[in-house]
Amino acid sequence: MSDELSSPGYDVPPEMQSHVTITRLDKIYNWSRRNSLWPMMFGLACCAIEMICTAASRYDFSRFGMEVMRPSPRQSDVMIVSGTVTKKMVPQIVRLYNQMPEPKYVIAMGACASGGGPFKEGYNVVSGVDKFVPVDVYIPGCPPTPQALLHGLITLQKKIDRESLSGVRWYQKAPIEPIPVPVLGPDLMDPRRYDQIFEYTHAPASPQPEGSAETPA
Ligand code: SF4
Repeated sequence: MSDELSSPGYDVPPEMQSHVTITRLDKIYNWSRRNSLWPMMFGLACCAIEMICTAASRYDFSRFGMEVMRPSPRQSDVMIVSGTVTKKMVPQIVRLYNQMPEPKYVIAMGACASGGGPFKEGYNVVSGVDKFVPVDVYIPGCPPTPQALLHGLITLQKKIDRESLSGVRWYQKAPIEPIPVPVLGPDLMDPRRYDQIFEYTHAPASPQPEGSAETPA
């Protein structure tokens, strides 16, 4: 049995140590998941080239248990969002995420997926995929190197090590929130709310209560 699995505090007789280990359910559950993360095979833009390099022979993320990239979301448990997230692609990305079985994780690879990157506030790009799917690990860079992606994947493994069966989100009965479909236009303001924003910004200032202090110049 692997030393990684043993929980401290339990003495196993020396003659049994190569056959028996005592551990916690959380620990064996996390250990099995963290060592068999299968990323989904899809890419969005230039960052995807670095992701492909990370899977190829020089960096070879199979060494960390990301054995095969799966072409079907139904066989994947990690979504690596590698590239610019356009408003046109968001519904497809969310659909792929919804088709993945739980437990599932998301990595935002690069500046674009994390916050819009060089295209932030472009009319057709969202300021981060985390507004639409829950992100577990963010990887900075434009593009991040294969080493940075490997670091992100190892960070995800460390995060899984700290999870508990009683706290993970897929066993909670949380209501499913509808995902807002983005529309073309500036990203800081939703064009569907322009009328509301106009009314708010053009409303007369409310009168100051009597005796209130003047705002210093
Ligand atoms: S972060 Fe840079 S390299 Fe990655 S998709 Fe955006 S522009 Fe391309």
